[in-house]
Amino acid sequence: MPPLDADDLKRYLEFYQDLGIKDLYRRDAGSGVRDAGPEAPAVETASPIPQPASPVPHPPGLLPILQDIGDCKRCRLHEGRTHIVFGVGNEHSPLVFVGEGPGADEDAQGIPFVGRAGQLLTQMIENTAKKEGIPLQREDVYICNVVKCRPPNNRTPEPDEMEICGQFLYRQLTTIQPKAICALGGTAARALTGHKEGVTKMRGKWFEWRGIPLMVTYHPSFLLRAYNVEAKREAWEDLKKVLHFVYD
Ligand code: URA
Repeated sequence: MPPLDADDLKRYLEFYQDLGIKDLYRRDAGSGVRDAGPEAPAVETASPIPQPASPVPHPPGLLPILQDIGDCKRCRLHEGRTHIVFGVGNEHSPLVFVGEGPGADEDAQGIPFVGRAGQLLTQMIENTAKKEGIPLQREDVYICNVVKCRPPNNRTPEPDEMEICGQFLYRQLTTIQPKAICALGGTAARALTGHKEGVTKMRGKWFEWRGIPLMVTYHPSFLLRAYNVEAKREAWEDLKKVLHFVYD
């Protein structure tokens, strides 16, 4: 990664603050001791080889990020992973969906949102777009997660895991520069906005990520629960808002 100038560093630090990270540390090659202080976030330069064995082709503009991820062992999540789940879709998309982290199906296939929740997300995107007269398929948007490796037993990612992996999400979003971001669920919403509320308070509202409008909605896994009929209706409303904002 090239050296950061003062503005880049400021933006970088603000990003980590938004993730709820207050203490930064520098990795000391000698001792491996956490050294609290006002240093740049720990950004390891991954060796260019080996590359992650990715089962999906990735758009050329995002490849340098994937190369920097390499065979990532920066946090404990690598221990249980089968594949790094980097992201999927169109790198020129004006709309990016951000989930929490891969589940079992995503880990097995290396593609975000391919399990039951993913199928619901696909239907929601495509059916809402169709009803609203917007020609849009899942592959037209970009979909990724806050963390790229599956947390054990689908637990919520820990703050340090989001801190470490957050640098790659930051780079994905700054490279794509979408017209809007849609955060799926409370974890992604809080990570990207820095707000602390639950998703029920945040959904349906516009926030901003580095000047990019960001809509919060429910995570599709939550919507799969039978009693969430009202939440499903609300999620369709949220999606309608974001689709019209981006594609009208
Ligand atoms: N849940 C997520 O947050 N992301 C996925 O990719 C799949 C399920």
